[in-house]
Amino acid sequence: MERPLPWSGAYPSLVDHALFGLKSLLSCMVLSVAAVLPAIGGQPPGTPSPGHAAAFDRLAGRLERGELSPATQVQTKQVLARLDSLVPAGDARRALRYRYTYCVLGMDDQPAQGVAYAQQGIEDARRIDYADAEANFHYCKGAHQESLTTPRDALADYTAGIEVARHAENLRLVADGLSWRGNVQSLLGEPALGLVDFLQAQRDYEQAGETGEAELNLLNIAIAYRRMGEFVEARKYMDQSLTYAEQRHDLRQQMAVEAQLGFLESESSNQPSALRHFAAALALARGIGDREGLGSILLGQAEAFNLTGRYVEALAALDQAQSEFGQAADHSNQDMITLQRAEADAGLGHHAQAIAGYNKAEKLLQSSGNLRYLAELLDARARSQGALGHYAQAVVDLRRTIHVRAALDHNARRYNTTLMSYQFDTARRDQEDRRIKEESALQSRQLAAMQRARDWQSLAMLLGSLLLLGLVWQTLRQLRQSRRLHSLAMTDALTGTANRRRIEQVMAAAIREARQTGAPLTVIVLDIDHFKRINDLHGHQVGDRVLVRLVAACTDALRGFDCFGRVGGEEFLVILPQTALETGRLVAERLRERVIALELGDIAADLHVTISLGLAQLNDSAEALEGLLDRADRALYQAKAAGRNRVVLAESPASP
Ligand code: GH3
Ligand code: MG
Ligand code: MG
Repeated sequence: MERPLPWSGAYPSLVDHALFGLKSLLSCMVLSVAAVLPAIGGQPPGTPSPGHAAAFDRLAGRLERGELSPATQVQTKQVLARLDSLVPAGDARRALRYRYTYCVLGMDDQPAQGVAYAQQGIEDARRIDYADAEANFHYCKGAHQESLTTPRDALADYTAGIEVARHAENLRLVADGLSWRGNVQSLLGEPALGLVDFLQAQRDYEQAGETGEAELNLLNIAIAYRRMGEFVEARKYMDQSLTYAEQRHDLRQQMAVEAQLGFLESESSNQPSALRHFAAALALARGIGDREGLGSILLGQAEAFNLTGRYVEALAALDQAQSEFGQAADHSNQDMITLQRAEADAGLGHHAQAIAGYNKAEKLLQSSGNLRYLAELLDARARSQGALGHYAQAVVDLRRTIHVRAALDHNARRYNTTLMSYQFDTARRDQEDRRIKEESALQSRQLAAMQRARDWQSLAMLLGSLLLLGLVWQTLRQLRQSRRLHSLAMTDALTGTANRRRIEQVMAAAIREARQTGAPLTVIVLDIDHFKRINDLHGHQVGDRVLVRLVAACTDALRGFDCFGRVGGEEFLVILPQTALETGRLVAERLRERVIALELGDIAADLHVTISLGLAQLNDSAEALEGLLDRADRALYQAKAAGRNRVVLAESPASP
């Protein structure tokens, strides 16, 4: 987005408009029209190639950012000529940018031509939809309009420019327009309205981050306060402005602030201090060759001389001022020069001459509508009339003085009302802004808190689920492991059949059940015959394989509810629930036959095994497990003793 020139807003604030007029302020930048003014809408001959676009932007940017701030007319003229030479051929936007830079910077001393130039710029800018250029041309037109007719007519141009800038949302450009308009309001004797514009401009500059412009605008605010008689506020802003100007080594701004401090001190009835500031301002104005500035400061100095009774020096200063203004072709301060000269004359006792001067100045002041100086004039003239014995005229002037002072008081109250209503509106708007900001901040905090809570909940749920999953997995693992351990603990490692612990558990349960139900229960103890020999003959490994094969054969030969287990090296126990001794014998015989029939030739050649079995049935009385097993063991022993490979039934124990 294009930006206007950095000094476009603050420039008119150089000196007091009420005293010297805007035209005189701007014309300190007057350039030779023939030298700089290009043909409207066209390109001067010798236009450079498009390669200069970047250089043009750099230079225009530096000017706009205030990095390049020509201090003298000659420098301004040179910079503009350079900028013009960099406009690429056929580049409508840059051509326009140059033109508004020229228009704003190089104030034309022929107002009619300037207004036409700016008007053409406005139309060209609209045609290519270049809002920033349009706003700048409006401001430029306003500045010329001030000289061409009256400053009041320029208000419409500044307001139009401000609207365009607002529409383009260019805060900086809006602030520039407010600054221009504020100066006119000030000039029209409405310092409060001017102050409202300046204060708003200040806010906009600060919001747009335009510190340089904000600093320059401080002097506008200071002048408006000064003109409202708010000297404390005025001094505060002037001191700030001077500090910034010194930091930036901005001589022109330093000159303007020193001059303003002079006016302020003079109005505060501190003439020695006023004269010191005017002296400092004069030195600066001479250094930068600013004729308009010189004229204005000399005028202020003359007033301070008059107020301290140094009338001769006042007249000398006025002569110099007249000469400076004359060389700058500025006649806008004639009213003030005439008034001050009359006051000096009166001070020197030349009352008739003074009255003639007052009469002349009165006409000029009435047309410019400056009530403060009109009151001063009437009061002074009354004194001169009195000195000459013209009491009737003196009374007329004194009465008029009272009226004008009343009007001034009325204006002052009006200014205060205007300012207070602006301050009230601003404060209310600030408060509203703060409230909205706080509300939205609160909402975002609440939202963020809710979001955080949700995040934590999700995380907690996720962790919980993971934990649960882990627990379940762990539990299952432990369950599997304990089952494995349990079954390991209950299984014979070699043969996979129930081990001694397991078979004894089963037997205890079977005995309990048999007692409860009264069903018969028979157990078989079986032992491999001459197993030691097998080991000795074929090796231990063959013995192991025989054990495995035998267990498989026996298990296979049993019924589903029978239970088989290994209780020793080659000794086994069979539990036959709901089985009486005689049925048990059939089972035992089946086992014995199966073992005989076992085909073991694949393990070792000519390998055969037999088993011996002892049976016992649980008797009716409360026989213990040991007793039952003992009887079965004894039956087995009998089978062995009887030649092995046989089944022996145990006797029922003798009744106790
Ligand atoms: P009997 O007919 O009197 O029962 O004679 P036996 O040789 O079978 O009896 P003995 O009690 O004298 O010997 C049992 C042998 O069984 C001794 C031992 O080496 C063998 N034995 C015990 N457990 C195992 C085993 O797990 N594997 C093998 N290969 N041999 C075993
Ligand atoms: Mg044996
Ligand atoms: Mg044995």
